[in-house]
Amino acid sequence: MAGTVYGPEEEHKEIWVFLEYADGALEGVCLELLSKARQLADEAGWRLTGLLMGHQAAPLADHAIAHGADRVVSADHPLLESFTVDAFTDVAFQALLEEKPTVLLLGATPNGRDLAGRLAVRLRTGLTADCTDLRLDVRRGILVSEVSGFGGGVLALIETADRRPQMATVRPGVFVAEEPDRGRTGEIVPISVELSPEDIRTRIVERVRGERVDLTQAPALVVGGRGMDGQFGILRELAELLGGEVGATRPPVDEGHIERERQIGQTGVVCRPKVAIVCGASGAFHFVVGVQDADVVIAVNSDPEAPIFEHADYFVVGDAFEVVPALVHALRSEREVSYA
Ligand SMILES: Cc1cc2nc3c(=O)[nH]c(=O)nc-3n(C[C@H](O)[C@H](O)[C@H](O)COP(=O)(O)OP(=O)(O)OC[C@H]3O[C@@H](n4cnc5c(N)ncnc54)[C@H](O)[C@@H]3O)c2cc1C
Repeated sequence: MAGTVYGPEEEHKEIWVFLEYADGALEGVCLELLSKARQLADEAGWRLTGLLMGHQAAPLADHAIAHGADRVVSADHPLLESFTVDAFTDVAFQALLEEKPTVLLLGATPNGRDLAGRLAVRLRTGLTADCTDLRLDVRRGILVSEVSGFGGGVLALIETADRRPQMATVRPGVFVAEEPDRGRTGEIVPISVELSPEDIRTRIVERVRGERVDLTQAPALVVGGRGMDGQFGILRELAELLGGEVGATRPPVDEGHIERERQIGQTGVVCRPKVAIVCGASGAFHFVVGVQDADVVIAVNSDPEAPIFEHADYFVVGDAFEVVPALVHALRSEREVSYA
């Protein structure tokens, strides 16, 4: 690897969080990262800074402060109105070189991943993607990032010893966002931005907004695995009755039976619903990490030895095509009785 851009000897003991936003609100994963980073910064006695890049996004700086940032470094420019990796990398790179923080955290969203990879290369530093936990070794000033590997059989702790910033991405739902404290005060530091249209190689020609579902906010989840043979209709009915959403393991997503944004697990979303009903899924580690924090997990599987049962509070050994319609029928009957 080429020489360092900056190392521990020049760093300022600070944690930075990239503040991504959409539709006038900070992404949920940024609030989760701010909460986690606040906890780490308090342990270490370090400062927590949000990096906000956008156009006329100033009110979001106050939100970030309410969610734990001590200050927000704010870059405002019309060419930052929409995310482009060229512009955001240039501006973030300059801001990081100015201040040389120890740690930079980003949400593992499509834009966060795009920016993280590009920045890590430009900064010639290490990037740990999709962390399942973060700790600080305060004495050594080292971020210890936990990731899973080898099919979940190994939990690896990754450190970036002599390059800065130490970078990590975290998927939505891994950490919990604390309630904002509207009384918190902090500093907003505007920084100058020099950008011209020639710096940006991508052009946004049209914005097409698909239906966006946020499984992390669903109070109930009905999850289908490969055992559902792509038949999600009955699961949708059950989810609707419970006021929840439908999710899936990876195989039905890969086979095109359901949208990718509904995939739960290590490479999907991590959810904490009140109840998760998991049907026809074996219970692979990569999937289980996405539902194990549900208040109650109910599993339906025809194989009495299915590993998912080890992670379930309640389980039914049976054919999901019999159990789920029976459950739907029972719920409907109960509602009819209570409305009568
Ligand atoms: C790096 C990596 C990342 C991954 N990320 C993810 C991820 O984010 N999410 C994810 O889900 N997977 C992920 N995977 C894949 C994961 O390892 C498993 O392969 C996957 O979760 C298995 O899905 P499944 O349980 O639906 O299918 P299977 O393992 O094939 O299980 C199907 C189950 O359905 C049961 N069944 C069959 N018919 C019925 C029936 N009629 N009624 C009831 N039960 C029935 C069977 O007994 C079986 O237990 C990842 C893999 C890797 C290598």
